[in-house]
Amino acid sequence: MTLGDYEDMMDSCVRCSLCKFIPQLAIRSKRFSSICPSIDFYDFHAYSGGGRMIAANAYHKGRVELTPEMLDVLYRCTNCGGCEVSCKWVYDLEPNEAIHALRAAAVEAGAGPMPKHKKYIKLVERKKNPYGEEPQNRPAWLTKDIKLDESSDTLYFVGCTAAYRREEIAVATAKILNAAGEGFRIMGSDEQCCGSPVYRVGDEKRAIRIMEENIESFKRAGIKRIITSCSGCYNMFKIEYPRYVEHDIDVVHTSQLIEFLLKDGRLKLTKDVPLKVTYHDPCHLGRMAEPYEKWEGEKIEVLTLVYIYDPPKPERRGANGVYDAPRNVLKQIPGVELVEMDRIREYSYCCGAGGGCKSAYPDFAMATANERVEEAESTGADALVSACPFCGTNFRDSLESRNSSMQYFDLTELVLRSIGGEQ
Ligand code: SF4
Ligand code: SF4
Repeated sequence: MTLGDYEDMMDSCVRCSLCKFIPQLAIRSKRFSSICPSIDFYDFHAYSGGGRMIAANAYHKGRVELTPEMLDVLYRCTNCGGCEVSCKWVYDLEPNEAIHALRAAAVEAGAGPMPKHKKYIKLVERKKNPYGEEPQNRPAWLTKDIKLDESSDTLYFVGCTAAYRREEIAVATAKILNAAGEGFRIMGSDEQCCGSPVYRVGDEKRAIRIMEENIESFKRAGIKRIITSCSGCYNMFKIEYPRYVEHDIDVVHTSQLIEFLLKDGRLKLTKDVPLKVTYHDPCHLGRMAEPYEKWEGEKIEVLTLVYIYDPPKPERRGANGVYDAPRNVLKQIPGVELVEMDRIREYSYCCGAGGGCKSAYPDFAMATANERVEEAESTGADALVSACPFCGTNFRDSLESRNSSMQYFDLTELVLRSIGGEQ
């Protein structure tokens, strides 16, 4: 979708600022009532979803240029989608989609993305991962006791962060699958980035090429199902890929698979894990994990700039993300007590790492993680748990910098402990 496709929508923004907060009826405390990390940190309307949409519209209409200042505002956004679910309570606009379209337009015009993004995109091209690690080291996390089934049509897509930075998640996932007797294979050194870091900063052409290459190699390998322990990879394969590249591969997040394996009796959580935990909903597994449905119909202006759609547009309000599976798993771990933060499910607060912010704006990414960690600490939990290696990396950095006594675990690590497995 281009900026032109969103023109009517961008014209409809009433500058009400609802996109800066979680909807009133969902607010549990004044302290934790905001939803946009960018406006929280930069405190100026241009840094909100609505503000960026005004900028996108102005650029589309030829009223402003992509100056360095404009680009800076555009990219200091984690693409978390919080603005969108809040706006949809009343106005049904999609500011995060407009932000993505403006990023794509900026790249197309040769202005975006930012230098740090260009640097890691080059690494993705050369090394197939944004960290610049050697492809042959991608499966270095594999321990000898992990069993692979090369004839399986199920692929564990490890993802760059679990493969090179959060190996404990890859190990835990593989051992859980082994314990349940769930056959799987990996692509080893042939696995390449899912394309998320490239796509999120607007380099659509390169991202689509990566999508096509990945789908082609999955098809060649006869893959029918992908298991992913990364929310970013999950979102790409499940939600974004089908917008550009057709595929019928089933995509499952580890939290969903573990929930199923427990229900099926193939996994038994027997060991006590005495921890009070709180769960962070990753944006890409939660509110942004609702599939796009192409809408075709008639748009009717009933009042000036007030439209109704016939048939009604698919809602995509974030309510149908993966929220229950990780919670259902946590609740079944003996000894684990789950307490909730004020901002949960579709109104979760971003970890701060996404949208290219961890690499280009580390101060903003860290402040956002600190804000979320503060919320987690306010619950009295001993540990913050999530289901995404990239969120985990930012939270660990935050906890370390704050000298916090709170621990961080990926869901798979706690499950591995409870089935009696070891890293
Ligand atoms: S994007 Fe939506 S919520 Fe934000 S200012 Fe515009 S109309 Fe209001
Ligand atoms: S996507 Fe997230 S960070 Fe960006 S404007 Fe919307 S709420 Fe703010």
